[in-house]
Formats: sequence, C-alpha cells, structure tokens
Amino acid sequence: MRSKLICRRLSESENVFDLVVLGAGSGGLAAAKRAASYGAKVAIIEGDRVGGTCVIRGCVPKKLLVIGSHYREYIQDSKSFGVDLLGSSIHTSTLLLNVRKEVDRLNQLHISMLGKSGVHLFSGWGKFVGENIIEVKPKDPLKSSYKICGRKILIAVGSQPVRPNIKGSSLGYVSDDIFLLEKFPKKIVIIGAGYIACEFACIFNNLGVEVIQIVRGDNLLKTFDKEVSNFLRDYMRSSGVKIFFEHEVKELLGSKGDINVITKKDSSINCDATLFAIGRKPFINGLHLDVVNVNSNLGKIIVDKNNMTSNSSIFAVGDVTDKVNLTPVAIEEGRVFADRLFGGITRSVDYQYIPKAVFSQPEIASVGLSESEACDEYGTKNISIYKTSFRPMSQALTKRNRKCFLKLIVDIDSNKVVGCHMAGENAAEIIQMAAIAISMGATKSDFDRTMALHPTIAEEFVTMI
Ligand code: NDP
Repeated sequence: MRSKLICRRLSESENVFDLVVLGAGSGGLAAAKRAASYGAKVAIIEGDRVGGTCVIRGCVPKKLLVIGSHYREYIQDSKSFGVDLLGSSIHTSTLLLNVRKEVDRLNQLHISMLGKSGVHLFSGWGKFVGENIIEVKPKDPLKSSYKICGRKILIAVGSQPVRPNIKGSSLGYVSDDIFLLEKFPKKIVIIGAGYIACEFACIFNNLGVEVIQIVRGDNLLKTFDKEVSNFLRDYMRSSGVKIFFEHEVKELLGSKGDINVITKKDSSINCDATLFAIGRKPFINGLHLDVVNVNSNLGKIIVDKNNMTSNSSIFAVGDVTDKVNLTPVAIEEGRVFADRLFGGITRSVDYQYIPKAVFSQPEIASVGLSESEACDEYGTKNISIYKTSFRPMSQALTKRNRKCFLKLIVDIDSNKVVGCHMAGENAAEIIQMAAIAISMGATKSDFDRTMALHPTIAEEFVTMI
C-alpha cells in the first residue's frame, strides 16, 4: 500500500521511466539501448563500471591476455621461419597495463553510447523498495540515496565468482582479481576444471608462470565432448601445465605471496598465488527481491520463456537467470525483451544451437551435441562419428609436433550433423561459421558437397569420410 503511494507521487516527477534496467553489462546495455531506440524513456543503474563482467573483468580482457600469451610461442618458433626473435623479452606488467587501458577505453565508449542512445545512466547500487520502485545508493558516499520508478524493470545484474567456504580462502584470487594485478606470479595453483580455470591455466603457462591445476573430478570441462576435453588435457600437460585430478583443496595457509595449498589428501603445495575458478553465482545480494516477490532457485532468478519473473512487471536476462550463462545469450535476451515490450515485435531467443568456445591453448569450440549427448538422444547405433587429428601447417616447420582435432556427429536417420567439435587454432572462428550451417539443418551430404578451401584446417570438416 505504502509503495503504491510512493510510486504515484514519483510519477509526477521526472524520475519515472518506461523501463529501469538494473545492471549495465552486456544484457542490460543491449536491452536499454534497444528499448530507447523505440522511443521508450529508459534508465540504467550501475553500481560498478559500465560494461559489466564481459567488458571489464571477463571475455574482453581475458581474450587480450590470451592473444598476448601466444607471443612466447611465436618467439620460440620464429627461428624455424627464418626470423630470429630469440632474446626478446615479455613484460607481463606492460601487457596487464595495456589491457586495462583498453578496458578503460571500452568503458568510456559504452558510457558515451548510452548517452547517444538517450538512456539515462544512474551510478550507484539499486535495490527494490516497493512495487516498481528502486532506491539508488550513489557511489559517492557524500550523496544521498534517491528513488526512481520504472513501469517495467529489467534485472540484468549478472553474476560474480564463487569463493569457497574453506579456511584461508581470502588468500586466493578469483578471476576479477587477475585483471587488477600489476604483474603475474611465478607459480600459481588454479582450482577448478571449467572455462575460467582452463583459460587462465593456459594464459599463465604460456607466459612462463608455473601452473598447477587442481581438479576435483576426473577430467576437464565436463560439459564438452569427452574426446575434445581429453585432447585439451593432454595438450595442456604436454605444454607444461601440471594437472591433478580427483584432488580437492582443504585450506590455504600462509600469507599473500607465500601460500601453502593443503589438499584433502593432505598434500601441500607452496606457491605465490592461487586462483579459485569454481563457478559463478548470480549477483542478487542486496537487491531485496523479496520486496517484489521475485522468485529464485539456488540464487538464480526464475524466468519464463519471455524472461518474465514471478512478478509480471519485472523481467530478468543473462547470468542472473536460470538459463544459459553466456554473453551473446544475455545480449540476445535483452534485445528480444526490448523488441517485444517496446517495439511490438514478437520473437524469441533460439537456445538450440549455441556455439561455445574455451580460449585455452589449444582453443576448443563446439556447436550441437557431444557424442554422449547424441548417444542419449538418438541411441548409440543411430549416430555416425567422423573425426580426424593431424598436424596443421603452422606446426610444419616447428619442433612441437602439435596437432588439432576435429569431430562431426551425424544422426544416421536424417543424415543431419548434430554436433561439430574442434580443438586447435582458430577453433572458435571456424565453429562460429559451422553453427550457421548446423542451425539451418545441414546434413553430412551438405558438408561433403561443399568445396574445400585449401590449405586450411577447416577443409577437413568437408572432406571427412
Ligand atoms: P564452470 O561452471 O565452467 O566450472 C566450474 C568448475 O569448478 C568445475 O570444474 C567444477 O567441478 C569446479 N568446482 C565447483 N565447485 C567446486 C569446489 N567447491 N571445489 C573444487 N572445484 C569446484 O565455472 P567457471 O568459473 O570456469 O566459469 C563460470 C561461467 O562463466 C561458465 O560456466 C561460463 O558460463 C562463463 N564463462 C564463459 C567463457 C567462455 O565462453 N569462453 C569464459 C569464462 C567463463 P565439477 O565439474 O566437478 O562440478
């Protein structure tokens, strides 16, 4: 009752918006700008930096570190190609500094794009204080809180890294901290086997850091095709990453810069840094979702097919929801939401063929089903597997003997390619294009009649027998 009164009073002021977006990350920015393009009056509230996880402390700075981390191998291999770069040195402090400068540039770019789109940016942390009403606590402690009102509200606050509840866990880094380092450690223990653990293990290893990866299960990246994750495991090990499977960390002892990682098997590893990469959780603390009866499950906001929450004027997109947690998915969810609510366009997000990639060394990428998923869906006898592994030309003159791996999974009955997987250079770029064909229902015959582009790695996908 009280909140309705506040909303009515607010609606006479200028702080009433057609849409209020909580969180200026990938999903929130996409939705806000798209809604504003239809003439909606839009506010976006951000407590941290505009750009969100992807731009500030995720995909973008990570990929730049990945690119930077390849130079060590290029330098080592240069002599084989008649260019002697040996003697060159790598300065990780310069790399980290330059990555931060690029992030700053993108942060400013996103702020200016919001302005050009006519979206009102409010810097501060928002929380629900009533139906349709958000209270914003400004970042500047000298300023007082204020309220804004949204006819519709979109929660796009994303997620944050999980820190385990073990003794000494504050001694360890989470992925956010890595981007703030001045220089890399000499020896790091990475805990986890998912995207972030594998990507950072390879970044650090390529840049000369001694890496030990501790994995509680028996393999890396369990959501990927097993042969692809096995391929990555062997490649990472042959590159120098020490991986211990079926080990769990009990506690961290020591101090920052001199840490003893104690496992549940009571072994101890001394290192100067540790990284917890054990998943991410929705960033809903402090939102006061109970005030507006927005339901969640294990902290993830429950949404329907239109991204509506249990409150019909509140929607949610991206990592804060119980759907797929990837940047392009959040962007598409944000745009579809805005198209439907403010543009009168009814369309939906296609979740069926979402390509995914891990920017490890080698890169791995896939679209469609893994072999075990295909077996479950079609039956083992009803699928055909085509695969190949070979040394790409980039390795022909080097002494590394590194290979790539490609795999197609075909439903025998329909002849459709239902899974396409790759480990090797440019895997993500190649699988992005394969995703178009596969989402259109391409058959193995379509792949076979496609002319090869020679000499490439990707041509193997159209010549497999
Ligand atoms: P993931 O979900 O990919 O992997 C989490 C890993 O941590 C798993 O290996 C899991 O083991 C392990 N784990 C969980 N809890 C514990 C624990 N208590 N002790 C030890 N190990 C544990 O999480 P990430 O943090 O790597 O990444 C989070 C998400 O961010 C990804 O799922 C993805 O959506 C997104 N992301 C995407 C990227 C990309 O597209 N390239 C890059 C980075 C992140 P188990 O397998 O046994 O459960």
